[in-house]
This record gives sequence, C-alpha cells and structure tokens, in this order.
Amino acid sequence: MVVSLLTWVWAEARWHELRVDVAATPGFSFHMVGTRDSTVREAPNRIHSALLEVGAKWPGKRITVSFHPSRPWQLGSSMDLPIALGVLMASGQVPFRDGLRAMGTLDLKALVSWVDVDRPAPPADAGIFIYPITAAWKPQGALWSPVKTLAEVLAVVRTGRPVEGAEVSGRLRTTPKWPSLELSPKAVTALGLVAAGRHPAFLYGAPGVGKTEFARAVHLLRSAVEPNLPYVEPPSNFTPVQLVGAKGAFWAAGTGVLFLDELGEMPVRTLEGLRKPMESLWSRESLPSPLVIGATNPCPCGFSGHDHLKCTCSANRISRYQERFSAPFLDRFHIALALSMRDERMAVPWDELVFKLRHAVDQQRSRGPWNGNGAMPIESFALDAGYSRDALETMHNWHKKSGLGLRALHHAMRVARTSADWNQRTRVTAHDAWLAISFHASQFRTTSTSDPWGPEHSWSKAMGLRSPEPQ
Ligand SMILES: [Zn+2]
Repeated sequence: MVVSLLTWVWAEARWHELRVDVAATPGFSFHMVGTRDSTVREAPNRIHSALLEVGAKWPGKRITVSFHPSRPWQLGSSMDLPIALGVLMASGQVPFRDGLRAMGTLDLKALVSWVDVDRPAPPADAGIFIYPITAAWKPQGALWSPVKTLAEVLAVVRTGRPVEGAEVSGRLRTTPKWPSLELSPKAVTALGLVAAGRHPAFLYGAPGVGKTEFARAVHLLRSAVEPNLPYVEPPSNFTPVQLVGAKGAFWAAGTGVLFLDELGEMPVRTLEGLRKPMESLWSRESLPSPLVIGATNPCPCGFSGHDHLKCTCSANRISRYQERFSAPFLDRFHIALALSMRDERMAVPWDELVFKLRHAVDQQRSRGPWNGNGAMPIESFALDAGYSRDALETMHNWHKKSGLGLRALHHAMRVARTSADWNQRTRVTAHDAWLAISFHASQFRTTSTSDPWGPEHSWSKAMGLRSPEPQ
C-alpha cells in the first residue's frame, strides 16, 4: 500500500510544501528516495523506538519513502513524524487520512519536538496539521493540532481533530498476563536471546520437559515489543506445501513465532524443505519470516536418556531417528537447547526479561531496520557492530577448529551480538562469544559419520543421554 502525507520544509527563507509518499511492499528493507539529506536518513532509527513506545511496530515490509518535489533541501529531523505516520498507515496500523499534514522530530521515547522553534508558522490551511507544541505557533486553522507525544499524534489521526491531553488513551499495547513457568537457568538465558534477537531455536528433550512451554514463552516475551504477534503451531503431519507453500504455516505465522513440534516425526523431505524458507531469514529482500522454533524428542518413543521411563527403541532406530536432522538442516538454527527433567529449575523472572528485552530491541533497532539480530545482514558485521578483538578471536578460533561452514560462524556472531545487547553492553565481549558458541547446534554433533548422534558422541553426552538397552 502507498500513502501520501504533506509536510512543510523551510528552505530559501520560506516554507515549501513537500509530499511524502510511503510504500509498504513485501520484503524487509528500508529505502529513501528524493533527498540527499543525511539527517533524514537517520529517521528510521528514531522511529523504530518511538513506535515501540506507543505499542506499534516497525512492519516486516519493504518500506520506500519518497519526497516530492525532489530538491537539494535540508529536510532535517522534522520529517520523522510524516515518515512514522506514513509507515503506520501504509502497514495498516492506523487508518489512512487523506491530505494530512504533519511535521516534527521524534525522540526514542516518542516525544514530538522540533529544533527550529523561531520559524514563523507555515501558511494556513483548512486540513489537519499536526506539529510540535514546542513550535508555539498560534493555530491558524480549526484543525491545527499541537502535540507533545506520538500517542497524541495517533489520537489526532484516529479522531480527525485536535485532542486534549485527557482524551489520549495512549498505547496500542495490551499487557500480557505472565504465566508461572520454571526453566533451567540456561533455558532462561536462551529464552531471552531467542526472543530478543529472533534467533531460530532447536529444542531437544523427552516429552514433558517443557518444549512447547518454551516456544509459547518466546512468543509471550516477544509480544511485549511486538503486539498482536501471531503464534502458529502446525501439526507434524503437515506436508511441505502446507508448511512453506502459499498460505502455508510460514505465511500464516508472518513475523510471529512458528513452533514446529515433533520434527523427528516429519519425513526427511519435509525437513529439508524447511531449509530454504529458514535461510531467507536474514536476506534483506526476503519476505517477512517467522521466528522458527523446532523441537524434537530424542527417539521415537521419546524416553531415551530418561531417568525413570525406559526407552523401548533399538540403537539403530534411535540413530536413524536422529540422523534425519542433517548438518545443513541443524545449521539453520542459531540456538540449540537441550531440556531435561533433571534440570535445576528457577521461576522465569518475567519483569526482568521484559526490561532487558526492551533494551536489547532498542539497541538492535538503532543499528538497522532488520528484524532482530537473527536477521542481521552479513555485510553489517563489517560495519561497526561492536565486536571486541577478543570476541572475534574467540569465534574465529572456534570456527577454525570446528570445521563448520561460514554460516555457523555468522550465526554465532549474531547470537553473540544479542548476548551483548541483552546484557546492555555496547561491545561484544569474549564472554558473549563463548555463550553463543555454547548454544550452537554443533556442540551436540561430531565429525563421525557412522553414528553422528550416537551415545558415545558429544551430542549425546551433552544431552546426558545413556546408551539405549540393546534389543
Ligand atoms: Zn525411545
């Protein structure tokens, strides 16, 4: 959808009318045309954060902003408001109002301001004109709407007239109810990283260890920064078409959480069919992709390695079951987590997680328009993504020794970045690198080809599996 807004720009000692067109099309990227002003190019960074503050979100779309006429004017940060409104309207989050005029700078807390307070008021007009209250202009028309916050802006758009502070109901966000949930400390860390960075996760463990609860917790947590986020849990007998085809589960999940339980029950062809759509997660031009959480039992009966219940599967059957997950398939996941009945558990500290999540998401959005570090484009690693020399050395050494492909390294780098964001660090430290590596699926694999997940190998050891009884 394409929407147009009007604004004013001060140039050559007078006000000029400027049209701002915003298009939201499939994809995930941000483009700006019709200006060479570098200030205005920083607008998405401020807007991301401001949208979150009012419970709106940056849409999982390809956003193109175009200015008419295209002149070499300094547009400045007062374009924030028309761009933000254009993004919200083009993505259907607020209703479109034709002929709306808006100007103002947004800060990260969604306050509307404007720096050039000594300018005269722009020419009067009959339509709605939203401008910062700090401009202190005498309203020149009945629909002139001075505002303090983005919440007030949205109220003006909703009602079609100026609003008083008391009328502003504010946030679109609804506060979710937090369930009582107990997880191991490592799983709580993983929960934060997965939700904060949108890192695809692979969960491994017997029935009843909390794989589904983990996936739902990720969704709930992520909903704190992305309201109305879809959660899709297709049955394991879905065909590849039902999963990844047009209007399939991937499509239905949008940018939400897609929980693929019982991966071990899916035919290999289906599993391999998931690789491509999961790959597109960090391609800038790709369609919006869901955050995929995959889960599997350790064996067909589910109880291999269980403390009290006896596994009834033969060794062969177990290795056939586990071999279904090829290295390239597991490579699609950034975080692998073993859950066990034996885990020491703690109550999930929701308040703390939400606090850290908001901070981490703000950090990520200040670096680029991609949706979470999980989708951070490779080229942005080269820019200043804040990796310390220690962190890079740790990851490169691990990568060299592991014999894994570049994809594994890139995933670990993305997860390490999220760990730093999560812990409110600008720099990625060696600790973040180690943490990321400890969550990599390769920790559970070995170079052996005969029985890659067999009991004598690291995967099974890491999982605390015991040798199945011979049958
Ligand atoms: Zn079994």
